[in-house]
Amino acid sequence: MGLKGHLVWDKRKREEIEEFSNEYKKFIEFAKIERLAISYFEELLRKSGFIRVDEVTDVEDQVYLVNRNKSLVAIKGNIENGVNFVAAHVDSPRLDLRTYPLYEEADIALAKTHYYGGVKKYQWFSLPLALVGVVVKEDGQKIDVCIGCDGKDPVFVLPDLLPHLDKEDNKVSEHFKAEKMNIILGSIPLQGEENEPVKKNVLKLLKDKYNIDEEDFVSADLELVPALKPRDVGIDSSFIGAYGHDDKICAYEGVMALLNAQISEGQKAAGVILFDKEEIGSEGDSGAQARFYRAFLRKLLKMRGISDAESALDDIIAKSTVLSADVTTLQDPSYLEVHDKLNAAKAGYGVGLVKYTGRGGKGGASEAHAELVARVRGILNKNGISWQPSLLGKVDVGGGGTVAKFLAQEGFDTIDMGPGLLGMHSPFELVSKADLYETYLAFKVLLEQL
Ligand code: MN
Ligand code: MN
Repeated sequence: MGLKGHLVWDKRKREEIEEFSNEYKKFIEFAKIERLAISYFEELLRKSGFIRVDEVTDVEDQVYLVNRNKSLVAIKGNIENGVNFVAAHVDSPRLDLRTYPLYEEADIALAKTHYYGGVKKYQWFSLPLALVGVVVKEDGQKIDVCIGCDGKDPVFVLPDLLPHLDKEDNKVSEHFKAEKMNIILGSIPLQGEENEPVKKNVLKLLKDKYNIDEEDFVSADLELVPALKPRDVGIDSSFIGAYGHDDKICAYEGVMALLNAQISEGQKAAGVILFDKEEIGSEGDSGAQARFYRAFLRKLLKMRGISDAESALDDIIAKSTVLSADVTTLQDPSYLEVHDKLNAAKAGYGVGLVKYTGRGGKGGASEAHAELVARVRGILNKNGISWQPSLLGKVDVGGGGTVAKFLAQEGFDTIDMGPGLLGMHSPFELVSKADLYETYLAFKVLLEQL
């Protein structure tokens, strides 16, 4: 809708927006997968004086925990006053390598993939891909893999079928089957080898270059992500196009807000929780249904000499709030029919306040209470931060969810908010630089003042 007077470009200096955007572009280019995002943030936290929880010997004001290298919680201030959290996720839709992926067909070596999260499969064919992650040898030695990350590296691709042989009467979606999503690894045979010589040559290269054996793929987390650099988009360079805005953009804005928030004695603490596995339902021990952040909070309480940490934790959660920080959609000018214009975010109008998520009759929704929405709106207005109401789309068209409901279940007063994207879940998502910056400003004042 674009609230009157809320256009960010009218109120912020372009240089300020560009400065924040440039730092973000460096991050999003590096943080291709959840592990890399977490290691980037750990370094930022340590530079700002945060201490890892297992290194703490006294009561400390800035403490963090990294869980399984894929999720993180960090807190600044005294948690006994309650905590204002930004909770975001660092996993993004992509193609994982299967457990036993390599094979040879038609004298070409290939590897089988398994799509992760809500992907439109056709978007991943004929696109340069990088292979990123870790391989763990049976003795525990970890090999970091980032093939296609450097401009000099080769990349991988799932070649699409030529249009000449593609039957016109088939529906588009029927062409794109998970079993056809196999990346090309090479085509040179190993000399003197009769059985699968091309695959054997690939295995030899993997051994020589990376010390990876075929069986090692069994104990690996390997993801294929677009081998694309973040770029400014549009003649006015108002957008940033990149892979993985959902939801590393909110993770970045949240961490920057935490680092720059001014928290004084007696005030609520500020925190960030970064989850993995949001895109597949917040599952597992690194997702939002895991309890690692509760264990972390209990540790902080014990550190402060509180012995009945479980009961104290209930009191703290009751005093705390969570900004469930995730991207929403912008009104797509070419698909206006899926949006409710009154409740659709527009580029450049600031952070989207999402009162509720879910689908149909609010199935699976997390809905913020009117009282919390009022406090958030009041703080944003008082600080001159642009915001806009945002729902995903027309009620019967579709919907979605975030980590919000899992934190709400724990008793946190929770609200969804974040910047809008165009082309969400695609290999090259767009965000307005103005919304990127304004969302960071929103998170910062809310961490300080909620
Ligand atoms: Mn998301
Ligand atoms: Mn998503």
